[in-house]
Amino acid sequence: MANLLDRWTYRTTPTVVFGRGCLDELPDHVRRIGDGRVLVVTDKGLVEAGVVQRVTDELARGSIHAEVWDEAEPEPPTVSVDACAEAIRQVNPAVVLGLGGGSAMDTSQIAACVVTNGGKAEDWIGVEVLRQPGIPTISIPTTAGTASEVTGNAVMVLPDRSNKMTVVSPYIYPRTALIDPALTDSVPSHITAATGMDTFCHAAESFITRRATQHTRQPAADALRRTLEFLPRAVADGSDREARDQMSYACLQAGYSLANAGVILVHGLAHAIGARARIPHGVANTVCLLPVMRLAAERNPTLMAELAGPLGVSADVTGVPQRAQAAVTVMERLVDQVGLPATLREVGVERAWLPDVAAATLSNTRVVHNSPVQPGLDELTDLLDGVFAD
Ligand code: NAD
Repeated sequence: MANLLDRWTYRTTPTVVFGRGCLDELPDHVRRIGDGRVLVVTDKGLVEAGVVQRVTDELARGSIHAEVWDEAEPEPPTVSVDACAEAIRQVNPAVVLGLGGGSAMDTSQIAACVVTNGGKAEDWIGVEVLRQPGIPTISIPTTAGTASEVTGNAVMVLPDRSNKMTVVSPYIYPRTALIDPALTDSVPSHITAATGMDTFCHAAESFITRRATQHTRQPAADALRRTLEFLPRAVADGSDREARDQMSYACLQAGYSLANAGVILVHGLAHAIGARARIPHGVANTVCLLPVMRLAAERNPTLMAELAGPLGVSADVTGVPQRAQAAVTVMERLVDQVGLPATLREVGVERAWLPDVAAATLSNTRVVHNSPVQPGLDELTDLLDGVFAD
């Protein structure tokens, strides 16, 4: 693993604005990017929660005209991203503003690139396939989970729903990420739990990837500590502002690590399962977290023992296998605390799908290559069977 003073590359969004109330800076950031109208890309849930109105009011206060496209779909299929690209062409905005959870932000980021690169969203799946920058985007997260606002990744469900695939490119980063934790205050408890677990997975997975460096481990460790302390509080009481602020910050830190160190088989499996079972990304990650981490503790206890410190395991627990196991126990406790399902049956997966899910996961070579443990097809199928639960 690269040390702090070794060679490394670090990418992030050029301007990151953080803090409760920072939405009032939005007009300045829009004007800095371009004059002209703004297209807000969002979903109907955000309209109903009153979040879209808050943002368009803020833009109006700065005399900026905004149009709203609220058709973004959860876990966006490629066809929905193509529809968003068409809306951008019609409105011809100076800035595309992605407002929402990862679904709306990812939709906006890919669609803005489809408009300038041509073709369909599906054509640009893969690493550095995009040829040129998109229409400038600003991303405003309303969940504390994905960190899409600070990653060069954006995810879509394939047309045959066999998997989710990612557009990975420096052109996916928005120009500005504006993170106002107040926008997460209205997130319902079950979505707070799922999105918060996504943050936890980003931090835990990126901490042990093959691309992890000491530089990426620092924000990942910070995110792990904050999530363990504040996610249960945010789930129990959505009006706990300190917990909301801390979770938005944890999400950002995990995002810095995720964007530069990547993720492993937890996300790989969750994409194949989520696409088929149509379940939220955070829920899919939560079900996949424990089997992958148990396997890692068995195969690579030294690496997993390094997670024990950030997970708050006492120094009194000594010995590599013991510390690796204690790290897994902390994760089991968190999954239990936030009240999300821990078995595949509970989330609507059918046992007959498991070999296909395992095969689809292994076809995601980027994630497989980044994983510290690399099970074969049969072993991965057995791993899934172990959390199927009759
Ligand atoms: P989401 O965007 O699908 O939102 C889930 C639900 O929460 C929606 O119904 C939405 O209306 C509602 N919601 C959001 N904010 C709200 C608020 N403030 N008040 C009330 N309701 C609110 O969920 P998500 O987990 O944030 O995003 C998931 C997507 O992000 C998936 O497609 C996943 O693959 C992707 N993702 C992307 C990255 C990345 O690096 N780009 C990383 C992780 C996940």
